[in-house]
Amino acid sequence: MTAATLTIDLDALIANWRALDGKSGSAVETAAVVKADAYGLNALRVSRALYHAGVRSFFVAVASEGAAIRQALGADADIYVFSGFMAGDAQALRDHNLIPLINSPAQFRRLLAELPGQGFGLQLNTGMNRLGMEATDFATHKNDILARGPKLVISHLACADQPGHAQNRAQLDTFKAMTDGLNLRRSLAATGGILLGSEYHFDLCRPGVGLYGGLPFAEAAPVVRLSIPVVQTREVDTGAAVGYSQGFVARRPTRIATLAAGYADGLIRAMGGAKARVYWHDTPCPVVGRVSMDLLTVDITDLDQEPEYLEILNQRQTVDMLAQAAGTIGYEILTSLGERYIRHYVGQN
Ligand SMILES: *Cc1c(COP(=O)(O)O)cnc(C)c1O
Repeated sequence: MTAATLTIDLDALIANWRALDGKSGSAVETAAVVKADAYGLNALRVSRALYHAGVRSFFVAVASEGAAIRQALGADADIYVFSGFMAGDAQALRDHNLIPLINSPAQFRRLLAELPGQGFGLQLNTGMNRLGMEATDFATHKNDILARGPKLVISHLACADQPGHAQNRAQLDTFKAMTDGLNLRRSLAATGGILLGSEYHFDLCRPGVGLYGGLPFAEAAPVVRLSIPVVQTREVDTGAAVGYSQGFVARRPTRIATLAAGYADGLIRAMGGAKARVYWHDTPCPVVGRVSMDLLTVDITDLDQEPEYLEILNQRQTVDMLAQAAGTIGYEILTSLGERYIRHYVGQN
């Protein structure tokens, strides 16, 4: 092996989509969020696999991402764009038949001026205060918007990973107050919202992280495995220091393996100092010293053989376990996965 290999299990991805789809009623559509290159796993491969499994609605952050996945999907797939209709988007939206989720009166005016015939949706602000049209603006423009037949109206929950948080109910109530009786297709739930129960499901759910094996979908099957080749190993004496700034000092005769991946590959510096582990089969070995740009150093003294590679993500150490060790969240671990990894796809297509 010459480079670290990221193995992506498309069967596990599809199993996670089916499991999330099974949590809502049969009349509720389950879409897929494939923004940020499908959370680092390759939006083309992921979208195509999900399309073959029956997914017909996809969500991306910006129009260029939608343009990139259109070629992987049939013309019958709906591709929604969270950032809506930004300046300069008209050509991409039209040429790739993307559905902007209009976030403001200015975006609605741009739609009317530049692409009056384009299918569109609407994103409402129900309390997250990040994206979406304000209630007052919606009230002002409601008749014009409704007259043009939005395909979907969405909002997004800020605290859905905390089931007991009062903001969930507050946003649900606000969403209903803004949209009840309008006879529009509605969507509120991402992964966390699906798990909050049927009141949150409306007509369409749009999971992202749960598809890729991450929390808050605790039952998810792991989708990624990351194997990093060992470049060399060495014995160091008690008292010898390893890595930049003498970040690790051996307290016993220690065997150090140097691995070919570092913070430039998304294995962030916060994983150093024995916080994160890598695995040889079932045996954990601590990452010792500082994480370098292209290299990790690992204490393999307790292994009874010379490993050719070690795994930092696998069935034993999920993205969330690694995230916890590094003081971050699974989403950030996934979306930081490096460009240098060989991405290897197993399972369906
Ligand atoms: C990212 C995102 C999602 C998917 O969220 P997950 O927590 O990854 O399931 C859904 N809706 C919006 C608006 C998003 O920004």
